[in-house]
Amino acid sequence: ATDTAERILVVEGVGKRFGGLVALSDVSLSVGRGSITGVIGPNGSGKSTLFNIIAGTLRPDRGRVFLNGHDTTRASPAQICRNGVGRTFQISRLFGEMTVLENLVAVAHGASDAEAVERALGLLDFLEITGLRDKWGTELSYGQRKLVEIARALMLRPTVMLLDEPFAGINPRLQNRIVDHLEALRQRGLTLFFIDHEMRIVLEICDTIHVLAQGRVIAEGDAAAIRSDPKVQDAYF
Ligand code: ADP
Ligand code: MG
Repeated sequence: ATDTAERILVVEGVGKRFGGLVALSDVSLSVGRGSITGVIGPNGSGKSTLFNIIAGTLRPDRGRVFLNGHDTTRASPAQICRNGVGRTFQISRLFGEMTVLENLVAVAHGASDAEAVERALGLLDFLEITGLRDKWGTELSYGQRKLVEIARALMLRPTVMLLDEPFAGINPRLQNRIVDHLEALRQRGLTLFFIDHEMRIVLEICDTIHVLAQGRVIAEGDAAAIRSDPKVQDAYF
């Protein structure tokens, strides 16, 4: 029942509890191939939990996740990664005691070192951060980490990228640069699925937005639909 030509990712009836706390309740949504799709919602509404379930680092209590029409609900994070899902984290996971270039090359298992270095340098160039290549992870500013995290996720040539709050806590100039990079990546055929609080950006760049509140999808649609939805106004604005 999954239209895999159009929908790269489908989440069907997913529920997740942590003890007595219901983090997600019957969440269904899908992500169009080649789209920029956003998830917004107040703190604690289940956004990161949803990404962890898609990426295979958490198992849902119920429901299923399909990637390219294949059921990946029980697949490991490594399998899901090999199937083309890249991700960045809300809190940076770069290695502080490695340089930026080493951080990128370290994730490129399977490629030769020369290939990995070439690919890493190409990505640093694309993201306009070549100047950071020899900096230690610990030397990077918060905003620089966000860009390096994106570069690192791209090392594995994902077809869909999950970005957890890529715009949070960085200045508007860097936000705009990241917007430009995401749009360029989409031009190259990548599907982008991101969580953020930056309403300005979400409304500007997303084709489709899903709004979570208390673990449920309360609204979805394009920017115009989301802006005018009274349920969203209540929960979010
Ligand atoms: P969001 O990313 O929207 O802020 P989360 O998905 O991180 O929300 O969390 C949703 C709810 O689940 C929150 O109430 C949070 O405290 C809880 N939660 C998330 N992860 C865990 C966990 N590993 N153990 C217990 N509770 C968790
Ligand atoms: Mg979160």
